[in-house]
Formats: sequence, C-alpha cells, structure tokens
Amino acid sequence: MSDLVLVLNCGSSSIKYQLLHADSAQVRASGLVEKIGEAHGGRVVHECGEQKLVHEGPIPDHRAGLRQAFEMFRATGIDLTTAGIGAVGHRVVHGGEVFWQPTLITGEVLRTIRELSVLAPLHNPANAIGIESTSELLPGIPEVAVFDTAFFHTLPEAARTYAIDAKIAAAHGVRRYGFHGTSHEYVSEKAAEYLGRPTSELNQIIFHLGNGASASAVRGGLAIDTTMGMTPLEGLVMGTRPGDLDPGIMPHLMNVAGLDLPAVEQLLNRDSGIKGLSGVNDFRELQQLIEGGDAQAKLAFDVYIHQLRRYLGAYLVELGTVDTIVFTAGVGENSPAVRAAALAGLTGLGIDVDNARNETRAPGVRRISPDSAPVAVLVVPTNEELAIARAADELVNS
Ligand code: ADP
Repeated sequence: MSDLVLVLNCGSSSIKYQLLHADSAQVRASGLVEKIGEAHGGRVVHECGEQKLVHEGPIPDHRAGLRQAFEMFRATGIDLTTAGIGAVGHRVVHGGEVFWQPTLITGEVLRTIRELSVLAPLHNPANAIGIESTSELLPGIPEVAVFDTAFFHTLPEAARTYAIDAKIAAAHGVRRYGFHGTSHEYVSEKAAEYLGRPTSELNQIIFHLGNGASASAVRGGLAIDTTMGMTPLEGLVMGTRPGDLDPGIMPHLMNVAGLDLPAVEQLLNRDSGIKGLSGVNDFRELQQLIEGGDAQAKLAFDVYIHQLRRYLGAYLVELGTVDTIVFTAGVGENSPAVRAAALAGLTGLGIDVDNARNETRAPGVRRISPDSAPVAVLVVPTNEELAIARAADELVNS
C-alpha cells in the first residue's frame, strides 16, 4: 500500500496541509489556507518543490479552502484524486475520554468528534468540517484522526483531577486532558533515539514552546503530568494566552469591570500572555523590543520564564531524577535566550547549558548541555505532520 499521506490541520479559520511520504518523510507539497470565512484577507499559499503559488480572494468556508488547495496541487502537477494517497491524517484537538489511539474515521467517529466540541468549541467543529469536506473531495480514501490529547491519557488520577465538586466535574467532563500530545510524544521518542536509549529507560521533561506552549513530565515513555488542562489555556504563559491564573480573577473582572462571557473568552484566548503584557505575541518581535529597552517587553519575558521554571521545578520533583530536558517548537527551537534563562543557575541539579552550543543554529536534534553534565539538554525539532502521517499510515497499512 502507498505510504503517501495527506495531513490536514483544520483550525477555526485556517487549514495547514502537507502531502508527504510516511516512510521517508519526504514532503511533496505543503500549504496554508488563511482567513476562512472572513470578508478580507483570504489567502492560500502553496509550496511544491521550488514552486510557490499564492491565491488571494475570499474563502467562504473550509470546503472552498480545500477545493482551492486541491486546485493548486493540480497546478503544480499533482491530482490528489489519482496521486495514490494511502490515507488522510487529520489532527483532531480533543479526543475526550473516548479516543486515545489514532482512529479510522467512520460516521460514528465523526459524530463523536462533533459531540466533543463541547470540550473544545474553538477546535473540534473545524476539525469535523475538515473531515467531512475531505470525505467529499477524496471519496474512498481512508481517513484517520490523530488526537492532540491522546498522549496524555496515561496521566495518573491525581495529576488529571481538579479539586472541585467531584459530581459536577464528572457530569461535565471537567478534568485535565493535556494538548500538543503528538508533539510531546514525537520529540520524546526522537530524544531517546538521539541518546541511544529506549524511552522506557528515560525520565524526560519536554517544553513545547510555540504560540501555544506546554510542558510535560514523561517517565518511561508515558506522560505523568502536563501543564495544559481541560482546555489549552492552563499552564505556561503563551503568545496570547495567560497560562495559570487565580480562578477568582474572572468573576472579579465580571463583577467590577463588567466583562461578559465573550469578553472573558477574548481576554483569555487572544489578549493575554506575551501579547497582553507587551503588545506583541511574536517572540522575535518581543526580543527586538527588549533589545530596544522596552520595560514591558522585558517584564513579559521574565513572567514567561518565571512560570516555565515553576513547572520545571515541579516536574523535577515529580520525576525524582531526570535524564533529559527537551526544547521544541518555534520558540523552544529558535530562542537561545529562553533556553538559557529557563535553565540558569541549576548546575547543582546537574542541569547546565553550554553557551556556544546554545547559540549555534543547526538542523536536527542537538545537545546544548556540556557532554559532562548529568542531564542532557536537547533541542529537538518537532514534526507533528510527520507524526500524524506515520500514525495514519501505520493504522491503514498494518
Ligand atoms: P504554533 O505552531 O503554535 O503556531 P510555532 O511552533 O510555529 O507556533 O512557534 C511560533 C513562535 O515561534 C512565534 O512566537 C515565533 O516568534 C517564534 N519563533 C520563530 N522563530 C523564532 C526565532 N528565530 N527566534 C525566536 N522566536 C522564534
């Protein structure tokens, strides 16, 4: 069977896609559909080898976005209906307590993904529409859902339980699920491969620092704790999300500042985090502001690092000993300043960063701790598309 997989990541107003070979990781084409459903700014950027095509114009819905992307595949010489695709792999954000394995999509599975929208109202509806549209455009090709929550189904009860009224929690699915699982699992395996040891022997702390950010503690290949919770708002400070907050802040703001529910959701999802503190959410811009002497930007950086180190400390204690600390995603892979600040002053715990290694850019997995340090600090590029492609390929072809 063909190992060619179309991977789709459908967000509320965007679609990221990649056509790749699961075995060799060779990417045939990739692209991004943006501003779906918006009056202005609709855009598809499609790349295939050396060719880069851009389409601009309104994209009314996900189906239209996919159709446009399919057109662009055709324009670069790939007809997806006859290209020999073995599977379509969909990133699905929330699997609830139902899905923790890559799952072949049937009508029933799709219905359940839709029902789980109550837990992920910003994500699962778009994932479901993406699945439905692909089934129409590529009939007969098996589709596989790979869940962002799956890797965290092993969280021990004490780590996944919130201390609120147990009956209310049980009735409404209120528990810690965790997100970014595909990335945490992928980089933890890559780190083990790099160290030449099986995951079953390793205690790992993973920092996935992108626009969204999360950390996890992984013992013997199984997640035992993670920073994101019932929603992707909890935990680390992120580009536009605050991470941990005193839950009393929201009722306070609703009472004294007159914020209603949509305003609270806007504040928590879009106007907090690095952006809330500094005005920018892109880490590169934040670093430029800091270099220019902007005090709020410096504070945003310090708050980000402070929160990250709180979890580092917690996970060191939870694991007891740690073999490797891994940084991944846009900020984790590209910001030496974040990595250095996150691990500063910890040589007494066996954690050290070699400045020259930390500052040197290089592709692939690399160690930034001195060889003599007991804890291997690694930068591991994540590749969620490849992880999804491999999961889909394995399910369909095994
Ligand atoms: P997501 O997939 O969550 O959208 P990414 O993993 O692509 O996010 O990470 C995006 C973040 O990575 C942005 O904040 C961006 O500024 C940051 N980033 C990308 N390149 C660099 C860099 N060279 N230095 C610092 N931050 C970077």
